Amino acid sequence: MQSTFRANPAGKPAPAVDTVAFMKSSDAILRRHDLRAFRHRLLRWFDRHSRQLPWRADLDPYHVWLSEIMLQQTRVSVVVERYPAFLDRFPDLKRLAAAQLAEVLAAWSGLGYYRRARALHATARQVVKQGGFPRTAEELAALPGIGRYTAAAIASIAFEQPCAVVDGNVERVLGRLFRIRGKQVWRVAEELLHTRRPGDFNQAMMELGATVCLPQAPRCNDCPVFGWCRTRGAGEARAGSRRHKRYIAYRWAVRDQAVFLVQRGDHKSLMPGMWELPQTRPGMGVPLLRLRHAITNTDYHVSVFGAKTANGSAGRWVKLAHVERLPLTGLTRKILLRSKLV
Ligand code: SF4
Repeated sequence: MQSTFRANPAGKPAPAVDTVAFMKSSDAILRRHDLRAFRHRLLRWFDRHSRQLPWRADLDPYHVWLSEIMLQQTRVSVVVERYPAFLDRFPDLKRLAAAQLAEVLAAWSGLGYYRRARALHATARQVVKQGGFPRTAEELAALPGIGRYTAAAIASIAFEQPCAVVDGNVERVLGRLFRIRGKQVWRVAEELLHTRRPGDFNQAMMELGATVCLPQAPRCNDCPVFGWCRTRGAGEARAGSRRHKRYIAYRWAVRDQAVFLVQRGDHKSLMPGMWELPQTRPGMGVPLLRLRHAITNTDYHVSVFGAKTANGSAGRWVKLAHVERLPLTGLTRKILLRSKLV
């Protein structure tokens, strides 16, 4: 079979793939020999250099699924911190399924994007009812909160199903390696997949993107597949996406070891049903506390002003000792922790 790309470990980046020819051709992206070498090099690097992450200790489907849902929109460092505590609270699927939604939301606090926690709870109940997790990506994708990427990740990591995973990291790595994009990325990811170790191979591709082939400054000198790369980081520095700035303020009323909190309405698109400090207008004098908080592409400049009373807000006084039992917004949790009262 004619190859469109060949390894060139010592020399300059390999010649450009003719994109039109690539699109029309059914040829493989790598010759069989190169493909074997590529897989071997990547897996050997992963076996030696992968990060020790708590959810990699075993391949229990509950652990794999939980970590994949947590990692969907949250940084690894935050998940490393929150995953063990969540697991302590809900050590298995049955305990999670039997819990009240409010308990699950409270344990999810700090991870953000609470729709995931609701879907997690719904999935736990459904999976317990049907007697365990399905094994294929198609069946997994039919469960709440599990899209194409997450289904492929769970199926390959927990059940060794030969399905490729393409997340943002893999898309960037393959885009740089072979100068491809769009649908080509999925096709090439499937072609490269090591069918006897699909879970490790997928994790290795994601790990490469997360630790070596970084978005702004790829560390090409440390890259295990440098020899196959067509770009080797050339021309990759891109301006980051535009960020927005917003100023918000909260009222902080504390009495008898209790803090006054309000609950966000169920109709809110962001964090419905979560508890937070009452909002107020910025510029109300000297704040007790100032902090920054980033959500997606917005940087919030937050001021917290002291208040003697609840001032007519519909909410309730919550004992500081019990406050973490409530599903708090990440920002309110941060303010309470900064205040050193919880
Ligand atoms: Fe290519 Fe560099 Fe990314 Fe490796 S780290 S895949 S050499 S751009």
